[in-house]
Amino acid sequence: MTHPAQPKASHFINGEYVEDTAGTPIPVIYAATGEQIATVHAATPAIVEQALSTAKAAQKAWAKMSGTERGRILRRAADIMRDRNHDLSVLETYDTGKPLQETLVADATSGADALEYFGGLAASLTGEHIPLGEDWVYTKREALGLCVGIGAWNYPTQIACWKGAPALACGNAMVFKPSETTPLCALKVAEILIEAGAPAGVFNVVQGMGEVGGALVTDPRVDKVSLTGSVPTGKKVYAAAAEGMKHVTMELGGKSPLIIFDDADLDNAVGGAINGNFYSSGQVCSNGTRVFVQKGIKEKFLARLAERTGNAILGDPMDEATSFGPMVTENQMNIVLGYIEKGKEEGARLICGGKRADMDGYFIEPTVFADVTDDMTIAREEIFGPVMSVLDFDTEEEVVARANDTEFGLSAGVFTKDFTRAHRVIGNLEAGSCFINSYNDAPVEAPFGGVKASGVGRENSKEAIKHFSQVKSVYVRMGDVEAAF
Ligand code: NAD
Repeated sequence: MTHPAQPKASHFINGEYVEDTAGTPIPVIYAATGEQIATVHAATPAIVEQALSTAKAAQKAWAKMSGTERGRILRRAADIMRDRNHDLSVLETYDTGKPLQETLVADATSGADALEYFGGLAASLTGEHIPLGEDWVYTKREALGLCVGIGAWNYPTQIACWKGAPALACGNAMVFKPSETTPLCALKVAEILIEAGAPAGVFNVVQGMGEVGGALVTDPRVDKVSLTGSVPTGKKVYAAAAEGMKHVTMELGGKSPLIIFDDADLDNAVGGAINGNFYSSGQVCSNGTRVFVQKGIKEKFLARLAERTGNAILGDPMDEATSFGPMVTENQMNIVLGYIEKGKEEGARLICGGKRADMDGYFIEPTVFADVTDDMTIAREEIFGPVMSVLDFDTEEEVVARANDTEFGLSAGVFTKDFTRAHRVIGNLEAGSCFINSYNDAPVEAPFGGVKASGVGRENSKEAIKHFSQVKSVYVRMGDVEAAF
């Protein structure tokens, strides 16, 4: 019997499902059981061509619609997503293995927020009038044209919407390639947009590995590439886009610092560290995986952290009581287990977890290491799993310097009751998305993105509009033209 997660076909182009079984089969494995639940096929060159030419052809008419009309469609899509939140969340859980307890509140809901927010903004994308005496200049905010979105595997619905919604609001068309690991959810986003009234071809989904991503990025018809992925992939995609002088947004990896001062509220700080390391089993780019704890509070912090981490419920992700799911794939599980071994070998003190859970699926116990030092592998490299490194510090000056000593700069957080210090520390940290007495909130109203190797550009908020549109300026002369000859 066909599994309910199996899509009708692999791709969604020009308003309908499209199949080409000549493409490499991509198995979709449910991470909680290891069972294959669906198969899609990577896009062949013919599918890539169909998607790009369709999107290119659809874009002009879409951009000519008024912002109000485009926005209404996006807002209708948001309503449909919310109505179907339960089914979409179940699919998200099949796609990623994340527990339903999370997907019910963090995926289709976040996607719907983006559709609603950018739907609301679409009608307000205006230019300005610049008086120059008799003459004047006016500016217009115009679409970039054909945009490519490429997603990572941790938030397949959210990533498709965070890229698709601002792109479409600005009058662009998009070809979106989900991660080959989680190919299912973006197809639903495409389906819902059509149902909401989007013209066929303005949002298309094609499947495939890096090779398909590469074919999209290098196509001369493409004006912009927005990638969510790792730093090494980001470097390749950025370089390929530069070759064609294309616009880019790069949402890449991190190794973010979370700084906890002695005066912090202990349970809030522990809660922040849990949210910043164990949500989605640690598969979150902005995670605060280097938890710097001031020496005075360290042992109390570790004791409370171990106690609360012991309350995590590992189990069937479809059971709403389950609060901690598996790694997305067996491969990712093995990568993370490799880091845990490195942590032990390099002398970090294991506080809890530290091994694969004794159950079906790719579960790793939530793991905390203490006495981690700055040079240890687990403190330097992005692990993308449930492995928290706790480091200790004495002074503010010291911790800021150590927190910044990394190639990454996605997020940073500080827990303290001293508000002057909180703002001063955040002001000195090299990161794009920061938190004071909180961690990992990502409301659509706030810009999201990194500095240094963690990325270029911003998603969400009005900032995203700037990254999916461009300004045309028009000089208007009211008098005669003076020329030298
Ligand atoms: P990845 O870099 O392996 O792949 C990301 C996407 O890029 C996939 O769809 C992949 O098929 C595609 N790709 C790979 N090579 C390509 C190429 N040469 N040209 C075009 N496309 C190519 O990342 P992943 O393993 O799927 O995701 C995990 C990474 O993503 C982590 O580093 C994580 O921090 C990062 N991430 C960042 C954010 C953010 O918003 N900053 C969010 C989620 C994940």
